[in-house]
Amino acid sequence: MADLDELVGELLRNHPPGSTDPTTFLGAQFDAGLAYVHFPIGYGGLGLDPGAQTQVDAHLRAEGAPSPFRSNPIGFGMGAPTVVTYGSEDQKRRYLRPLFACEHIWCQLFSEPGAGSDIASLATRAIRDGDDWVVTGQKVWTSLAHQARYGMLLARTDPNVPKHAGLTYFVLDMHAPGVEVRPLRQITGEAEFNEVFLDGVRIPDAERLGGVGDGWKVAMTTLMFERFNSDNVPKGGGLIGTALAEWARRGDTSSPHARALEDRLVDGWVRAEVHRLTTLRAAHQRAQGTPGPEGSIGKLSMATVNQAIGALAVDLVGAGGMRYPSGYEESRPDTMGFDPDADAMKAFLRAQANSIEGGTSDIMRNILAERVLGLPGDVRVDKDKPWTEVPRS
Ligand SMILES: Cc1cc2nc3c(=O)[nH]c(=O)nc-3n(C[C@H](O)[C@H](O)[C@H](O)COP(=O)(O)OP(=O)(O)OC[C@H]3O[C@@H](n4cnc5c(N)ncnc54)[C@H](O)[C@@H]3O)c2cc1C
Repeated sequence: MADLDELVGELLRNHPPGSTDPTTFLGAQFDAGLAYVHFPIGYGGLGLDPGAQTQVDAHLRAEGAPSPFRSNPIGFGMGAPTVVTYGSEDQKRRYLRPLFACEHIWCQLFSEPGAGSDIASLATRAIRDGDDWVVTGQKVWTSLAHQARYGMLLARTDPNVPKHAGLTYFVLDMHAPGVEVRPLRQITGEAEFNEVFLDGVRIPDAERLGGVGDGWKVAMTTLMFERFNSDNVPKGGGLIGTALAEWARRGDTSSPHARALEDRLVDGWVRAEVHRLTTLRAAHQRAQGTPGPEGSIGKLSMATVNQAIGALAVDLVGAGGMRYPSGYEESRPDTMGFDPDADAMKAFLRAQANSIEGGTSDIMRNILAERVLGLPGDVRVDKDKPWTEVPRS
């Protein structure tokens, strides 16, 4: 790995993070093959074992280098692996570098008002018209669609076959005529996500990812990476860091009430640390090949741990925890998820979405029950019926 260290050193020497703007730095990181070391040479990688990325990232973070995770989490964590797996050479050339450098933000257009956990039942239609597809439908909960230049779109191209077989996957230009993005507000008051209306949007067939009817297979790649898509939180970071800061601010740390809170804080610390190690183990297993069900373990544990620690952080604030200093004025964040600068109340409210976004905790439990424990499968009465014959609300 000496060569890899040398490459990282050269990148840092030629582009000192302190004096280089993040886009230039990330572009240079991509060109050096240090963006995703397991990607092919020329596409941000060096064709190495994916585990080597951990070493690169640790070195870069220690030197204060930027990461695309906060600005472009969906593109960086899910779009890039999907494009590199299923994209044409032309798509890989056009999309990967600007995505990694955060010049192009990406969003994920899967969920619909009538299709969330059962995403394969979605109704947005794409109809072939010459070299284009014409897309009409509605997506919902689309995080960062207001920032996005491109979206990963799953649409129904054949309604006469069973639901999983009639889907096709496209890259959608979010600036194309007929795309309308409207904000949706969350419990925090912010609008990180959106409704997206698609009204006769034309997508060139060249923007398809994978074959016609192969959309489910391509979407599974995106979803597997979604469950792994979390930043490497350092020991004591994330929500437990917020809770610790509240403990440090407390005047009373020795009354019986404070002692009881201290017990919960220690319990929260242990749970946060077990979650951090679980995530590291999942990353290590992913480095051995394609991610598997261990991503679902991390996703489930992230939601339960964050919600418990979020509640504790508010309790540590005391009566002031009933206030909401952030205010409910609508704002349009340019990033999503945990905000390290948020107060305990906002962090607590945002954590409530952790058990829904990226697949609900119930669905994670189903996956683990079926694929890891080998328990009987969920009831799936519509699996083999043509989509048109399945009753819809
Ligand atoms: C903050 C946030 C950001 C999001 N960002 C995006 C995004 O960028 N792009 C995108 O496409 N989507 C996004 N989503 C949507 C998210 O993926 C869906 O909300 C989620 O998959 C659940 O779907 P649903 O809301 O339709 O709920 P439903 O699927 O209707 O579920 C309702 C309830 O029923 C339970 N349930 C459903 N089916 C089963 C089952 N088979 N077994 C047991 N329980 C079941 C669920 O667990 C849940 O409690 C986001 C959601 C949130 C909260």
